[in-house]
Amino acid sequence: MNQFKIKKLVDQAYREAKLSKEEIKSILAEDINKLDYLLQKADQKRTEICGDEVHLRAIIEFSSYCKQNCHYCGLRKDNQQLERYRLRKEEIIKTSQMASELGYQTVVLQSGEDDYPAAEIAEIIKEIKKTTGMAITLSLGERDFDAYKLWREAGADRYLLKHEIASKNLYEKYHPGMSFENRIESLRYLKMLGYQIGSGVIIDLPGQTPDILAEDLLLCQKLELDMIGSGPFIPHQQTPLKGTKTGTVEMTLKFTALSRLLLPLTHIPATTALGTIDDEGRQKALKAGANVVMPNVTDGKYREQYQIYPDKICVNEEAGDCRQCIGSIISSLGRHVSQNKGHSLRK
Ligand code: SAH
Repeated sequence: MNQFKIKKLVDQAYREAKLSKEEIKSILAEDINKLDYLLQKADQKRTEICGDEVHLRAIIEFSSYCKQNCHYCGLRKDNQQLERYRLRKEEIIKTSQMASELGYQTVVLQSGEDDYPAAEIAEIIKEIKKTTGMAITLSLGERDFDAYKLWREAGADRYLLKHEIASKNLYEKYHPGMSFENRIESLRYLKMLGYQIGSGVIIDLPGQTPDILAEDLLLCQKLELDMIGSGPFIPHQQTPLKGTKTGTVEMTLKFTALSRLLLPLTHIPATTALGTIDDEGRQKALKAGANVVMPNVTDGKYREQYQIYPDKICVNEEAGDCRQCIGSIISSLGRHVSQNKGHSLRK
């Protein structure tokens, strides 16, 4: 595309938050060197909608047990080389309280698909709410619909469940025994229960095309997401996708910028995966539409074992260091850490 055509499409996205699948696809297929205007307008939209505040979400990776076998993920059941751990209820609550003391206003409880008892999760939610008042996001994968309801009633505010790839074929190829419909149904049900919902994709999974990524963005619009995340695919040695190509910073940034323009009222994280493949990755995303960072507060001794992908940054750090490091990244960009919970921008 020539610059004139690119500008026309970006301006339209900026104005109307709407592009056709073909138009989205043509931008995603374009060389990033020709897309300065896209990144710039996404940054401008972020300023208008979110101002200069960045929301931090403290993430606790509380169990690396998983019953699924996702082809890309190091936590997959068949990876027998991974030493597994599961935090007890008291440890999760204590870590949340420590996060609250560090100033975090949201805690994200994340795990593999470990059948952690639903009732116990509900007790954890209630206790965290009662003792810290923090917003609580759950990211536990798919559970039965009664569990989603129980946790919502216990006080959980948000649920993060990436749909990963908007192709039924590839979704079901990479998630043996799982169904694309159930993933989407879960998201719809969670929204109906009053959760703020987050979803998103892995960028550059083998076989993914601009056509599919355009479909992903349209799906995100249809789902009326409150949060949309995208991180580059990082191949893990103990998975069927070992030896395939790492995702690119460029595609991740294009997707991030288009997310901001097409879903202006969403929270968009600068992902840890992007920071892993590029030292400046999170900074770049924060300048291309992102307004959220999710620092790790998991106890140092477990970080290495929550190996969804290799070489994850900050595995040798402790929570307080991560908070400081993120704080200085944010101020170096002329932005500041938000003082509020950062609930959905849609409400
Ligand atoms: N079990 C939960 C949490 C999964 S881990 C769930 O199913 O939602 C959180 C995210 O890590 C996943 O949604 C996926 O998008 C990402 N992820 C997993 N393996 C990855 C890899 N090899 N490269 C990049 N991202 C990966």
